[in-house]
Parts: sequence; structure tokens; C-alpha cells
Amino acid sequence: MISVVEALTQIAAGFKPLGLETISIDQALGRALGKDVASRITHPPVAVSSMDGYAVRAEDAKGVPFELTKIGESKAGCGFNGTVGLNEATRIFTGAPLPEGADTVVIQENTETDGQIIRVLVSVTENKFVRPAGLDFSIGDILLHKGQILTARDIGLLASMNVPWIKVHRKPRVAIMSTGDELVLPGGPVGTDQIINSNSLACAAYITAMGGEPVNLGIARDTEQSLLDTLAGAKGADLLITIGGASVGDYDLVQSVMREQGLELGFYRIAMRPGKPLIFGQLNGVPVLGLPGNPVSAGVTTALFVKMAMDIMLGLGDTQTNLESVALGTDLNANDQRQDYLRATLATGANAEIIAIPFNRQDSAMMSCFAKADCLIVRAPFSEAIKKGELISILRLNFCQVRF
Ligand code: AMP
Ligand code: MG
Repeated sequence: MISVVEALTQIAAGFKPLGLETISIDQALGRALGKDVASRITHPPVAVSSMDGYAVRAEDAKGVPFELTKIGESKAGCGFNGTVGLNEATRIFTGAPLPEGADTVVIQENTETDGQIIRVLVSVTENKFVRPAGLDFSIGDILLHKGQILTARDIGLLASMNVPWIKVHRKPRVAIMSTGDELVLPGGPVGTDQIINSNSLACAAYITAMGGEPVNLGIARDTEQSLLDTLAGAKGADLLITIGGASVGDYDLVQSVMREQGLELGFYRIAMRPGKPLIFGQLNGVPVLGLPGNPVSAGVTTALFVKMAMDIMLGLGDTQTNLESVALGTDLNANDQRQDYLRATLATGANAEIIAIPFNRQDSAMMSCFAKADCLIVRAPFSEAIKKGELISILRLNFCQVRF
């Protein structure tokens, strides 16, 4: 058995960022940016008004009220062509260019008008309600950086930078194969000796949420031939995930069949709970992660190992070690030689501290707890007993939340 840290290190070495593709920004939500992006324009391109009112010259304000002559209008989409001179003003609207000669804006609420005469009722200072040219950003400014996941706000920013196309990392294509004679699809009749294949669907959703493209290879039965036939579908994938059959039982054939097919095995057991049987290797150029069949084990190992592989392929760097320190909500016994990942909920204590409360039962087949959990309490091998209120490390279970 190898440690979790060794497993992470070996897996990290097996992946590299995928190539880039050019896409339109209206397809960019949730994609991983592959190149820095510089603005193609200055925003705003000239000084503009931020309110509806009058464009005036601050030096014309000599005592309040004072009167000016309206000589024209500047509206968004059609600025005023002339120059505002002594004791002159133009009507101006939000977003409209400040006319030459004018240096400030008086909001219309602070004026009275009588045809061409504008009476300003308040004192005036320069640059009021004026957005100077380049207030937001200037041409050439790098505002988005490679390695960031694009949000809806980023897409708005890209559009305002006049950038219609961007380069993103190609989505990792992930082939998913479940294994087991007992597995049936959800929705149909279920015999008492059958189990619903929940993992294929959960795994595909994890991959989608992490920015990949899942390809469901279906269920291989526990025979060599069925495994061979199903594995053939993984050709061309960026990652193959197998689920179940990774252990050493009589029907756990995944490793032996893949070995016959040329698997270069990295390791197949990790000192962790849940998730001890986990195969990592390369099968004819395709990296393979063979996850355990129990759904919680598959989920926890996905949160650690699949997540890291996906982040590397998406050019996001190695983002796996986001542990936080919080208060423990109950006493825990000493740990054995395996790194423990306890499913827990989070609550807020009387002093605004965050408290992690582990579920009473930590069975790796209990999806109800896993779905409800907010985090995993991470306990290193041979950790000593620990009391309620002491600090422990947690990993938040946000790996499978859609990232935008
Ligand atoms: P295995 O690793 O194949 O020995 O499977 C361990 C446990 O997980 C068994 O109870 C299996 O029935 C269950 N299991 C395996 N694959 C899946 C799956 N795709 N969906 C749900 N449960 C599974
Ligand atoms: Mg099995």
C-alpha cells in the first residue's frame, strides 16, 4: 500500500495540460482559459456622463443659482459635435460623450429649464458625474489570465473588451466503465441480489461538473470477454475510469484483464479509507484510474484523484490540497494505518466558529450520508484520539459543484 501523498504525486506525473482550442465567448461558460486575454479597446473610449443632466464648464459657476444657454445635446450613440463655450451647456444623457469644452455634469434634478436657458441651482465642481476615458480598462490591459475558469461575469467582461474568440483547454474526454454482474440500470425492476449502477451516472456528473466530457461505456460483466469488449471503447480517451472489480476478490478481474492488454501499472492499493483498492496506470497510452465499486469510495477517490487529474488536464495547476482547519463536533478515537476521510456536515458554533460533525456511521455504501455531507474530515494515519472542540482538517466537498 502506498500513502495518499505518494498516490497523488504519481498520478500528477501521469497527466499534462490538454491542447487549446478557439471558441466563441458565448460557448465559454465554465471553460478553462488557456491564454491571457488583453483588451482590444479602452473602456470608456472617451470621457462620458454617468447621469442624465447638463454638460457644463465648472468655471462658469459664479454663485448659485447661475444661468447657461443650451447649445445642443449629447446622447448615448450620438455625441455633440461642437464645443461648449463661455456660459454654455448641452443636454447630456447617461453614457453619452462629454462634449469638448465641458468638464463636469450637473444632474437634471439640480436644474430648472426655460427653453434654451438652464438655471443651475447648486454649486458645481469639476469632473462630477464624469467617467474619464479608460476608467474601467485600457487597450492592451490583461484582464483575464490563463488557468481561470470562466464565469458569466467573465464573459460579460470579455464582450466589453471587444474579444469575441478565446483560447481554452480542450475538455478532457473521460471514458467511464462500470463492472459487475449485479448491476442494473436505474428505473427498472431490481432483484434482491441486484444493485443499481449509481456510479456511472454520478461519475459522469462529477466529470461534467469538473469541466470534462464523460463517455459512458456502460456495464462490463465480471467475465474477461465482457471486460475486453467494453474496454475497447476507451480508445482515444484522455482518461479511462473503471469502477468496481479493483480489489482482490474472485470476480475482481479489472486489473488482470487490463494487464493482459498491456497495462503499465503504477499502483493498486492506497492506505486510505474509504478507497483502498485503487488502480492507477497507463493502458496503451490512456491513463487509467480504477476506482473502487462502493459509491462513497468512488466519490471520495474522485474528489481526490480524478479531480487532480482533471485540473491538470485543464491547465488549472495542482489544486488538490485545499484543506481547512475547523473545530471538531465530537470525540474521535485514534486512527489506524490508513488515512481516514470521514463524511461530515458543517455547522456554525456560538462564537461563529465552523464545526465539523461526522456522521455516526461511515459505511462506504451509504450514499445518503455522502450526498448530505459538506466535507470530509481528513485524519492522517496513526492520528491520536482527539476531543470535541479541537481543530481538525477538512476537505470541502465542492469538487462536484458546477464551477460557474
Ligand atoms: P467491487 O469493487 O466490484 O467489489 O464492488 C464493491 C461494492 O460496490 C459492491 O457492493 C458492488 O455491488 C458495488 N458497486 C460496484 N459497482 C457499482 C456501481 N457502478 N454502482 C453502484 N454500486 C456498485
Ligand atoms: Mg464487482
